[in-house]
Amino acid sequence: MEVSSQQQCPTCHTPVALNANFCPQCGHKFKEPPLSTSVGRQLFLYLFSFLLAPLGLHFAFKYIRQPDAKARTIGIIILLLTIVAIALVIILTKTVYSSIYGSLGIL
Ligand SMILES: [Zn+2]
Repeated sequence: MEVSSQQQCPTCHTPVALNANFCPQCGHKFKEPPLSTSVGRQLFLYLFSFLLAPLGLHFAFKYIRQPDAKARTIGIIILLLTIVAIALVIILTKTVYSSIYGSLGIL
């Protein structure tokens, strides 16, 4: 078993598999593993949150809740991208509507 695929139980210090939900030694319940902050993951998250704006909020709050400062920064960037994406959609929609109504002579 690789060392990187293991974590140490904070209660009894037994090495436990990373994907384990409980320590087999003492029954300690593990939190979710820290979220990835790799460049590839960041690019995916930023693209995802921009293109699928409201769905990105799910990731934004997940990352903002992380204790890691880098993860929190990523969460805030996702949140900002989501806001920008939603604002762009609203502006585009207004522009399209006004050009359609304008060409129909309703406005
Ligand atoms: Zn334990």
